[in-house]
Amino acid sequence: MIVARTIAECREHRARLEGPVALVPTMGALHAGHVSLIEAAKKRAAHVVASIFVNPTQFGPREDFNKYPRPIEDDLRKCDEAGVALVFNPSVEEMYRPSLVPITIEMPQLSGVLEGKHRPGHFAGVCQVVAKLLNIIRPNVAVFGQKDYQQFRVIQAMVDALDWPIDVFMCPTVRERDGMAMSSRNQYLSSDERERALAISRALFLAQGEVKAGVKQANRLTALMQNTLLDPGKLGRVPVAVDYVAAVDPMTFKGVELVTGPTLLAIAARVGTTRLIDNVIVTPENAT
Ligand code: AMP
Repeated sequence: MIVARTIAECREHRARLEGPVALVPTMGALHAGHVSLIEAAKKRAAHVVASIFVNPTQFGPREDFNKYPRPIEDDLRKCDEAGVALVFNPSVEEMYRPSLVPITIEMPQLSGVLEGKHRPGHFAGVCQVVAKLLNIIRPNVAVFGQKDYQQFRVIQAMVDALDWPIDVFMCPTVRERDGMAMSSRNQYLSSDERERALAISRALFLAQGEVKAGVKQANRLTALMQNTLLDPGKLGRVPVAVDYVAAVDPMTFKGVELVTGPTLLAIAARVGTTRLIDNVIVTPENAT
């Protein structure tokens, strides 16, 4: 496995990869969710390129950019074991040379709602870095996780709108045995906070169960999720602070009133100082 730290090195090694290439962009602190993307990427291309870059432009001023975990040696070992051909691990200065002018790619309909509303500028930063990565690596396929569904959809829409010849592919969320979505940020949680955070996946699964049982009214689903997130239960305290609970069309992010087709149920909530997101896509039993 080759590790490139500069754009020039990355381009040089990329040019030597013959046949289809799949890119898996990450911020490192790799877990089984990331490895599942690499495995899926291997099935879709002859070579897998992974990027490991904690992108400052997608973090807000009061967010966790500085404390975000960076276990690079572990990450490189995991990439190597998973069969990655080339890792691109640039510095912030390499990606954002001081001479570059600021540039933003905006699509308010998709990037101004949900996460975008609560994290202003987040998706502008995501689009900026992913656009650069796609242009540096020029993959045939780019693989993203459903865990960050809105990110996947925003990037898919960017690639579509700009006619880049890249197949943007989404993989399912990998979860712990108890249902909690794997996330690099889970390591911030104390054991008490982790227990409380479980309310997020529990809320989504309860709503999913209701859809299976035939419930179609979106407001019943969002109320059920809200109540689950705020139910002190046996913990004796409200588990999380809710940023949003949503039931939206997974393509347009417009709110839905009735679940008559695929619907994204999404939650963002804070546990202590850690902000977590999770989602499921539900489909009514009789949908075509
Ligand atoms: P991150 O390193 O958190 O920026 O994530 C890099 C990629 O891994 C993104 O496409 C995420 O959606 C994906 N990812 C993160 N967590 C999971 C998970 N639990 N299951 C599947 N994909 C994930």
